[in-house]
Amino acid sequence: MAMVTAKLALLVALLAASSYGALSSPELRDLWTRTERAVKAAAERFVDEDLTAPVIHPLRPRVGSAEPDPIGVPYDSWRLAVETGNIIDWETVPAHWLVDTRKYLIGGQYRQDSKVVVDEAVLYSSSFKLRGSNDTEKEKWVWLFDIDETVLSSLPYYAKHGFGTKKHNFTSFREYVLEGNSPPLLETRRLYDVVRSIGIKTVFLSTRKEELRNITESNLQNKGFSDWFKLLLKPNDCNGTALVYKSGERKKLQDAGYEIVGSIGDQWSDLIGQAEGKRLFKVPNPIYYIP
Ligand SMILES: [Mg+2]
Repeated sequence: MAMVTAKLALLVALLAASSYGALSSPELRDLWTRTERAVKAAAERFVDEDLTAPVIHPLRPRVGSAEPDPIGVPYDSWRLAVETGNIIDWETVPAHWLVDTRKYLIGGQYRQDSKVVVDEAVLYSSSFKLRGSNDTEKEKWVWLFDIDETVLSSLPYYAKHGFGTKKHNFTSFREYVLEGNSPPLLETRRLYDVVRSIGIKTVFLSTRKEELRNITESNLQNKGFSDWFKLLLKPNDCNGTALVYKSGERKKLQDAGYEIVGSIGDQWSDLIGQAEGKRLFKVPNPIYYIP
């Protein structure tokens, strides 16, 4: 620590010695003085906040534990661990990552990451066009889509509520859903269009409750998801986990003779469990976790 401080102090001194004398105008000298002050303040913060430890051991703190305390872990590392299901059971995005989360979601990377997933899903689904299947076999193909954060976005809601850094408020989120104006996730809608054009049946499988059926239907239709083979919503009195509920619904489809050729969702609980599809596609969601 002392060595780092000394190096920073030396850096300030060298900069001052090499540059201050060359400044002629009062404005430039003032600018230099303010810059020097800012560097010194940063050096003091560097020491006060003990920022050296994460630089030396960036992955040491607690990644992979059930109760992640990710201070010191770079945001991208935390997000990767979340997306791959290595960090689970988290309630909120750590507050100090509010800015990183906002930047990820609205700065273009979120859309880009979704595009990569959907490009693969489109490539895979397109292979079904080439199959010499008879109509009977084709009739049994279904593709599962989750709804929230898979085909419809709650970003307008989370932008007003801390981008996942605040504990989930069921009342205010329900009010948002009841507006029926969640925007479409355009990459996944592209997949929906491709799947339909091939003749694969589309099934929406969501943990939204039955009481939200009407508003869900109109929201989907208003945002370009014009029709579907089935819209499966959770019974109002069902309180099981998403993983259990969705596994059960997939099993029913399978038992009825349908072949789940693909499945896409933003949570692992959308995808894994019983009767998983032939291919699973996970779109990003770094703002909440559903078991
Ligand atoms: Mg979802």
